[in-house]
Amino acid sequence: MHLFQSLTRCLPGVQGASLFGWLTALYERWRTVDEAAIHEAALASLAELALSGCTTTSDQHYLFPANRGVRLDAIVEAADAVGLRIHAGRGSMTLGKSNGGLPPDTCCENDDAVLADCERVIDRYHDPKPHAMRRIDLAPCSPFNITPELFAATRELASRRGVLLHTHAAETLDEERFCLERFGLRPIAYLERHGWLGEDVCLAHCVHLNDAEIDLLARTRTTVAHCPSSNMRLGSGIARVRRMLDAGVRVGLGVDGSSSNDGGNLPAEARLAVLLQRVGGHSGGLAAAEAFRMLTLGGAEVLRRAELGRIEPGAAADLVLFDHRDPAFAGAFSHDPVAALTLAQPPRPLHVFVAGQPVVHYGRLTRLDWSRHADEFDRMVRARFGAG
Ligand SMILES: [Zn+2]
Repeated sequence: MHLFQSLTRCLPGVQGASLFGWLTALYERWRTVDEAAIHEAALASLAELALSGCTTTSDQHYLFPANRGVRLDAIVEAADAVGLRIHAGRGSMTLGKSNGGLPPDTCCENDDAVLADCERVIDRYHDPKPHAMRRIDLAPCSPFNITPELFAATRELASRRGVLLHTHAAETLDEERFCLERFGLRPIAYLERHGWLGEDVCLAHCVHLNDAEIDLLARTRTTVAHCPSSNMRLGSGIARVRRMLDAGVRVGLGVDGSSSNDGGNLPAEARLAVLLQRVGGHSGGLAAAEAFRMLTLGGAEVLRRAELGRIEPGAAADLVLFDHRDPAFAGAFSHDPVAALTLAQPPRPLHVFVAGQPVVHYGRLTRLDWSRHADEFDRMVRARFGAG
């Protein structure tokens, strides 16, 4: 997830754009963002996730524009306010346009500042204990906006501090061309060169992988976040999830950011994952039970959280309760409850518990009344990020 992106959902002008055009236009809007806007956007996105039945979110926040005072703390505090468990990814962008990267220089930080702030947020927020509500991951944005030096240094820092790594990889053919032209390597080979394959590394998207690259991810136990809505919305392509699962790659589901999904409904991604494999004609497609596994245990494996994604003694009491009498389940639930949750249109859950605490009660958030924020949020979004 990129929680801040609820600032720029459904934006006219980029509704039909593919990744690089979409990013180039959005960077211009995002360069003026401040911490208050990030916090409100995170509340909106977290509220939507919770109401869909998401209990743990992994956020990659890479937007720290020059002189705007944005800190990752705004994201962590928003997760507390809604009650979700969070892996707050300290993201970054440091390869600006003047050095051959995609974003404008004003959206970028320098490598040393990023590394210092990574240490700060790990010290302040990272809880390595099982059942932790807050963890920090290190999450430089992507090969086309991060210096090779920062990829290498972030790898070293993550190993030293025992935190997870996350980045975008092999999302589009534009990215593949960028890596081939600039580094002479395909994206996965480029990441491998900097130590970015392994069981503590999660790669988002992985749409454009060949067989050898899929086998390499399996062998190195590198994990993948599959984001079907975003891949369809940006026309990025169809990730070969069937082939990944057959090779033994561990795959979880992601909603990706609200600007490339225009939503944040986690169970909806399970349904779309099934349907997208069928569209791609990948033999056998995905079974409903496999999509449900990616939705629960798959995500927990990606985050290396043995206590999440399962209901059993000793596991965290992160529970999502649906009403089997919801019309969306009519005629489906009695045949196959798991298929009803992954093939039928997902209804909102009745109750959501995180660490045994109610976060959604009879369909309403217990801690945050978003209706008190909604009008002001819309006004702010229109005034600051609108087309004018
Ligand atoms: Zn993303």
